[in-house]
Amino acid sequence: MAIQSTDKFETLAIHAGASQDNHGSVIEPISLSTTFAQTAPGKPIGVYEYSRSSNPNRKSLEDAIAVLEKGKYGLAFSSGSATTGVILQSLPQGSHAISIGDVYGGTHRYFTKVANAHGVETDFTNNLIEDLPKLVKENTKLVWIESPTNPTLTVTDIALVSKTVKAINKDIILVVDNTFLSPYLSNPLTLGADIVVHSGTKYINGHSDVVIGVLAVNDEALYERLSFLQNAIGAIPSPFDSWLAHRGLKTLHLRVQRASESALKIAEFLNKNENVLAVNYPGLESHPNREIVKKQHRNGLGGGMISFRIKGGADAADKFTSQTRLFALAESLGGIESLISVPPKMTHAGIPKEQREASGVYDDLIRVSVGIEDVDDLIADLEQAFK
Ligand SMILES: *Cc1c(COP(=O)(O)O)cnc(C)c1O
Repeated sequence: MAIQSTDKFETLAIHAGASQDNHGSVIEPISLSTTFAQTAPGKPIGVYEYSRSSNPNRKSLEDAIAVLEKGKYGLAFSSGSATTGVILQSLPQGSHAISIGDVYGGTHRYFTKVANAHGVETDFTNNLIEDLPKLVKENTKLVWIESPTNPTLTVTDIALVSKTVKAINKDIILVVDNTFLSPYLSNPLTLGADIVVHSGTKYINGHSDVVIGVLAVNDEALYERLSFLQNAIGAIPSPFDSWLAHRGLKTLHLRVQRASESALKIAEFLNKNENVLAVNYPGLESHPNREIVKKQHRNGLGGGMISFRIKGGADAADKFTSQTRLFALAESLGGIESLISVPPKMTHAGIPKEQREASGVYDDLIRVSVGIEDVDDLIADLEQAFK
């Protein structure tokens, strides 16, 4: 069942990374074997030798990710963080990197507490376009962005960053963490990124039951380098997790479309609510980066993530998030179920208050991951929590 270049996203999500068995299985079997027989020394029967190096289920997921991200090659890892680790590990000793300031906490931690051990120094800025010319050094090898950011949902113009970076030095690698949007809403490789990464734990798997990471690239040499490290470091996903994530991926378009539609209604509800100080949602016309969203996201959709400031400070945020019936109070995002969290006390608790507030993470900030339940039920739940 070969896909063709005219197939739309919805068709590709179902059929890309097709079953690789010999029985015509419509859904791919899970291939647990760690090793694969050879007919003579060094002559495997098929393409597989040893499951760390490659495995049918992982390969199918990787192929599907490459297709959906409009790239040539995909790679899967044991977590989003392992994906980040492998990319940063690929930098030569003593490299310089530039990252947006409000990156995912674990990415910040990898830059400052792990990559620094092999001499990688990183500058962080929330004013990337303006600061790039000042920050780029002779040894700058990589620029890292995340759009929208967590939890304040700032959107970065990826094409403009790419143009700016490549004008300074075309060999600098631009990495985009596309976790918050998923390949359904945005394809950074088509906007000039060299590597797109995902915590597949979120929208790609989509059912809050697998921790996994993926990336896609176009450049063959870059693929070879990252694929070498995938095998050499060995932070790979299991066949079962690869299979589950691939199964989740097949409904990505339905889930993200519904989450985006519901999130817009919820953001509008919050925007009108007298208990709310401010709403951050890229789907709202009032979002400061709305023009970028319109050109960068499919149909200008805002995705499933919202954050808002509640009146009454930290106490109100605590009370509100303990009162919801359907929104579970938990970290993470991108699943079928709705989640709610208080970033200053949960995901962002480790960042000093002043630094946190400088990027908009106030004590009264609440983050919502909108699931695919009935939107009226979700709004009613928020309404009763406000009361
Ligand atoms: C969760 C997350 C990660 C880390 O992924 P894990 O799968 O938890 O290791 C990286 N980036 C973003 C934006 C995330 O939300």
